[in-house]
Amino acid sequence: MARILVVEDEVMINELIVENLKLVGHKCISAFDGEKALEIINSNLLDLIILDVMLPKRSGFDIIKEISNVPVIFLTAKSDLSDRLKGLSLGADDYILKPFEMPELLARVKVILRRTKRDEMFFPIDDKLIDFEQRKVFKDGVEVDLTPKEFDILDALVTNRNIILTREQLISLVWSFDYEGDTNRIIDVYIRQLKKKLELQNRIRSIYGVGYRLEL
Ligand code: CA
Repeated sequence: MARILVVEDEVMINELIVENLKLVGHKCISAFDGEKALEIINSNLLDLIILDVMLPKRSGFDIIKEISNVPVIFLTAKSDLSDRLKGLSLGADDYILKPFEMPELLARVKVILRRTKRDEMFFPIDDKLIDFEQRKVFKDGVEVDLTPKEFDILDALVTNRNIILTREQLISLVWSFDYEGDTNRIIDVYIRQLKKKLELQNRIRSIYGVGYRLEL
């Protein structure tokens, strides 16, 4: 669980991000303009800031200059290269171009929280314990034999817990290239294996015609 500030003036986008971050277990604060954002930054302990560039009152580029020791992900509608480079040169840890899909945002949030050691490296599910650093799963203290791809899929499900992932989203999160084969089939095969090996039959729910959701 991390404390995340979401600075975005488009209310619907802000709410959608917050809703999804909360579903996967984070605590969130929203700000809808630059001044309010700075107020919150100066008076709260935060683990991560998701920061829109174009904001009322103070821009994201303005705000980041006053942030120290908290990782920042820029959110920008501009696909302009100079804007991205400016964001990174000002110290942003990552940036996301709008529009984006929620699993992409959650994946980047996870990467930064793990890199900065602000997220738990261990995650329990029933009698299993996932060790993200060693990329291993233990059941009653005994390691369960998972293939690297099985672990990646489990990781994606945990990162997006309580949220439905489509098979296409799972494919793009786990395979970094466009998978050429039958995507539905390959995901179904992996999910079946995971359920069996980790006894997650009651946790991984198949959503007919859509995909899968890890329910915790
Ligand atoms: Ca904006």
